[in-house]
Amino acid sequence: MTGFSDSFQRPINYLRISITDRCNLRCIYCMPTEGIQLMSHSDILTYEEIYTMAKAAAELGIEKIRITGGEPLVRIGLPELIQMLAHIEGIDDVALTTNGVLLASYAAELKKTGLRRVNVSLDTLNQDKFELITCRNNLDDVLEGIEAARSVGLHPVKVNVVVMEGINDNELLDFATKTIDEGWHVRFIELMPSPGVSAIASQFVPVSEMKKRLKLLGKLKPCLPSVGNGPAKYFRFPHTSGTIGFITPVSEHFCFCCNRLRLTADGKLRPCLLSDYEIDLKSPLRSGIPSSELKKLIKKAVANKPLRHQLAEGCIPKDRPMTQVGG
Ligand code: SAM
Ligand code: SF4
Repeated sequence: MTGFSDSFQRPINYLRISITDRCNLRCIYCMPTEGIQLMSHSDILTYEEIYTMAKAAAELGIEKIRITGGEPLVRIGLPELIQMLAHIEGIDDVALTTNGVLLASYAAELKKTGLRRVNVSLDTLNQDKFELITCRNNLDDVLEGIEAARSVGLHPVKVNVVVMEGINDNELLDFATKTIDEGWHVRFIELMPSPGVSAIASQFVPVSEMKKRLKLLGKLKPCLPSVGNGPAKYFRFPHTSGTIGFITPVSEHFCFCCNRLRLTADGKLRPCLLSDYEIDLKSPLRSGIPSSELKKLIKKAVANKPLRHQLAEGCIPKDRPMTQVGG
């Protein structure tokens, strides 16, 4: 079915589902430094509840699903969920965003059960810095995970890099070189504010600055026809198979073409990443709401999707850290 759109005529066809708030890393821009309130297990939606919600959403017009977290691979049975979602009529793409630590062990099974693509978050190629950013020392596991995903055909594997001044901004060229030498698909992401984290505004690097620094490697050409269905704008250096994407949530918001809804692990439906507005679906799901009523709630969230985020006006989401919303 087509034609699901919000009050501003933006088509809504993409659902991001966070399946856990647990994580095996502690990234400084995502995980609060203290007072982490973990959801109780009984508050986290079961796979059957996620399936019920996703099926209703697909009947309204959702076509693409991305699984995120927390770290989705720390939740037991993820391949089973992928299989359930991939079989929903109308869903043509099930993808995963992961930190890659456990990916090598799961890549083949995930591919078999219907996962199409994977994005791996990796902010540094340096062991010490990996530990500084994530507070853990799993760089080699992540690199193995990327190779495993590539080798089983979870194509394209996109590597997400949040760029931070004084932390990893000096690795822009190293990541860009991977697109030239090894065909990597790298996406540089601007740091967003998130409650309680230690990465701060002074570490923000705008994409315009990233592009300036990348000129040292040559002239970036836009990928034509344009690729991807999300907010990234893609480029490549001449005669290379890899690509470089830029994501500018802060310096140049892309809200006018936002096609997304987000479901948190505890069953709240959020029409905007950077707004605290959300609708509870967990209680209705647990009290056996009929699909027609569930769809009304999904439509209500969509009707309340704001035109754009208000970061420029100083309105920063306060209620949930990024690790709970799923990025
Ligand atoms: N654990 C998985 C991972 O790291 O890929 C999935 C969840 S994580 C919250 C999803 C994405 O959000 C990651 O690519 C991460 O880099 C991004 N993210 C988290 N906090 C961010 C922030 N403050 N600014 C920009 N991106 C952020
Ligand atoms: Fe965990 Fe992903 Fe957040 Fe890092 S970005 S703390 S890996 S949820």
